[in-house]
Amino acid sequence: MRSLQTRLVLVFVLLIVSVMVVVGTFMLNQVSVYYFDDFTEQMNSVFNAEVFSMLENEAKAENGAERLNAAVGAYSSALRISSYRNYYILDGETGATLFGSNDEKVERTPAIISALGGKIGQEKRVSSGYMDRANPIVLDDEVKYIVYIKDTKQDQQNLTASMFTIILRTVIFALCIAIILSFLFAKTITKPIGNITKGAKRLSMGELDTTLEVSSKDEIGTLTETFNDMATALKTTLARVEDERNKLDTTFLYMTDGVTAFSGDGTLIHFNPAAVDMLGFNEKKDKTYDAIFKELGIEFSSLLNMENSFEEYDIEHGEKTLKVSFALFGSGAEESGVVAIIHDFTEQQKLENSRREFVANVSHELRTPLTNVKSYTETLAESPDAPEEMKEQFYSVILNETDRMTRIVKDLLTLSRLDSAKMDWKNENFSLKKSVENAYRAMEIEARRHRHKLTMSVDSTLPDFYGDRERIEQVFINLLSNAVKYTPDGGRIDFSAESFTDHIKITVKDNGIGIAEENMPRMFERFYRVDKARSRESGGTGLGLSIAREIIRHYGGDIKLESKYGSGTNVSVILPKEPGDEAV
Ligand code: ADP
Repeated sequence: MRSLQTRLVLVFVLLIVSVMVVVGTFMLNQVSVYYFDDFTEQMNSVFNAEVFSMLENEAKAENGAERLNAAVGAYSSALRISSYRNYYILDGETGATLFGSNDEKVERTPAIISALGGKIGQEKRVSSGYMDRANPIVLDDEVKYIVYIKDTKQDQQNLTASMFTIILRTVIFALCIAIILSFLFAKTITKPIGNITKGAKRLSMGELDTTLEVSSKDEIGTLTETFNDMATALKTTLARVEDERNKLDTTFLYMTDGVTAFSGDGTLIHFNPAAVDMLGFNEKKDKTYDAIFKELGIEFSSLLNMENSFEEYDIEHGEKTLKVSFALFGSGAEESGVVAIIHDFTEQQKLENSRREFVANVSHELRTPLTNVKSYTETLAESPDAPEEMKEQFYSVILNETDRMTRIVKDLLTLSRLDSAKMDWKNENFSLKKSVENAYRAMEIEARRHRHKLTMSVDSTLPDFYGDRERIEQVFINLLSNAVKYTPDGGRIDFSAESFTDHIKITVKDNGIGIAEENMPRMFERFYRVDKARSRESGGTGLGLSIAREIIRHYGGDIKLESKYGSGTNVSVILPKEPGDEAV
């Protein structure tokens, strides 16, 4: 490809050469025309009627040709006779050369033929190699002689040759100047363009601060200005894109759902920490779809050809339940691939499961007493004559079962209020010491009934507590009642309240049946009881511990269980001295 500079120089050269060719041709042609016109004029001015009649008189003599020769010779200077222009006296009948200013024999030309026919003849073509004039000398209607002038055009050719040399020199000179000028001119265009090209290269290499100096107000200046505007716009756009990318990166990094992306050939191209966490893959080794989602049993190629916009699968991964949504991205072969969003819904699943279990438990707990009430009532209705003693026993069972249902429903209502934070708390400042004593007193008789040794020790520095006195006392009673229930008769129960720097600890310790280690994690679950029959027998609902913990947690505290199967249980209530925000 030719550079702009070369092309400009070539245009200039062609322009000059073609102008000079046209001018030269025109000038050389004009010279020929001038010579031709000059020759014709000279011939016309010499060979006028007077000269013709004089020549005719000379021709009449015996030695007409000789005399004619002499007569024409007398006009040599007017006819400009020279070595390039000669005159000849020709025979009027044969055209043979009789005399002449040189010894040449004249060939027949169209002009001579015309003169032989009695008419003045002259070469008409300007471009012809010679100029001539043939004048017939007519005597008695017969062409006797012909006075013939012939010019070889040598003069003209000499002039043309020197003119040609001049033109050639001029062309060479003009060309030299044109080349220099066009070089300089081309430089004024190519230099700024070169600068812009360099700037564009720098820009493409990432030097976004590139700006060019605007040195003129012409089109090149406008181009440079536009280039600068473009560079600024590019910089702003890139900054905006970078910003967006940062935002996305941050979202990607901190989102709780896992994200992985695979290129068209199944190679892992993106992933976030949540994905590594959920799927537990090795980010250094597992770099393909097959390595990460092998347990799914779905071919990567089938995902690439999915018909819907996305496909969802549930996978059990260890103890986790994950929902994986696959979606396609891109359309070209190279940029396309599959993105997978992984959502961990283990907790939701657990919640859902416990909700179902809870409903099943409630139904089950209520069904047993209801069935009992129904069957005893039916029996009473069907046997009016039954013995009074039996009737009383039946009524007592019905009453017991109804009480049980009432307790369950009451406990459920309490739990529901606690869950929905609609509990009506009657908060006040009260003496914990008194509450502990109240609980002790409430359970004293029951403990004695079972021949338990119930002891109480209360720290004298035990502070007052701000909260719902009745409910907190209820918690203590509940724990004491459990200790009484789950300790074989004649056991030992220690009830104590201690004050620490920032918390109060109320402990109920028994040497009862204890709780097996495998049951410990479920003790606070609603309706969970280690021994259902025993619990039911003693009037338990399986909701006591969970209600107690909800109440204590409401005041920013907690309940801790320690137990050894067969040796006894230690239940501690921890209450903060400064109640939490919720307690207010
Ligand atoms: P319940 O109304 O059945 O007593 P709780 O929620 O109070 O229900 O207690 C749940 C279960 O925890 C009981 O059924 C019992 O199996 C166990 N439990 C509670 N306290 C004790 C204890 N002090 N010793 C042994 N087991 C206990």
